[in-house]
Amino acid sequence: MDNLPPTVKLVAISKFHPSEYLQAAYEEGQRVFGESQVQELQRKVSEMPDDIQWHFIGHLQTNKVKYIAPYISMIEAVDSMKLMAEIQKQAAKCNRTIDVLLELHIAEEETKYGLTIDACRELLKEGEWRKMTNVRICGLMMMASYTDDSDQIRNEFTLASDFFDEVKAGYFANDDYFRERSWGMSHDYPIAIECRSTMVRVGTKIFGPRVY
Ligand SMILES: *Cc1c(COP(=O)(O)O)cnc(C)c1O
Repeated sequence: MDNLPPTVKLVAISKFHPSEYLQAAYEEGQRVFGESQVQELQRKVSEMPDDIQWHFIGHLQTNKVKYIAPYISMIEAVDSMKLMAEIQKQAAKCNRTIDVLLELHIAEEETKYGLTIDACRELLKEGEWRKMTNVRICGLMMMASYTDDSDQIRNEFTLASDFFDEVKAGYFANDDYFRERSWGMSHDYPIAIECRSTMVRVGTKIFGPRVY
């Protein structure tokens, strides 16, 4: 994973890998790791050094927010007001502000998760998030379709990138923190970077295949 442009942050997706693998990456200087399950994350947090920034990248159930609220650096896949309200509540209890990304659903795969572009527009327009002073919306996250068709992947990233500009102009024009575009995984991160990604979430290419 060398030669990422300096504007692109690498989130090492370590889900399902043992802490020894994370430790090896840590020793090479990696400090940002992404996990998708609360229990596994909790265990790794206790096993790994304190100066790691942990990103939660999976679907987060509201009843589990309280476990990660004290330390999580970013919750990447927020796709409902209900989840955001719970993050607000737990962040306030911990006296901190939690950075989040709004997860878009653009890919053609059927999944329950992620906001369509229209739903995301609605959520922002409705405005309840403005009251959530312990939640900071830092940008957008999405996954492209799992396909070999690089034109399709490129189209999806471009759609997300254009929508980012719309949201930035409409709601966060003066907010420097709204700047993250989290797209790109092992198989498509070079395309994602061409499509203005600021944050790539790479697992397999760093750690090898996952053993489930
Ligand atoms: C697992 C996962 C990744 C990493 O996938 P790789 O193909 O191993 O790079 C990235 N983003 C999300 C949301 C994931 O769940």
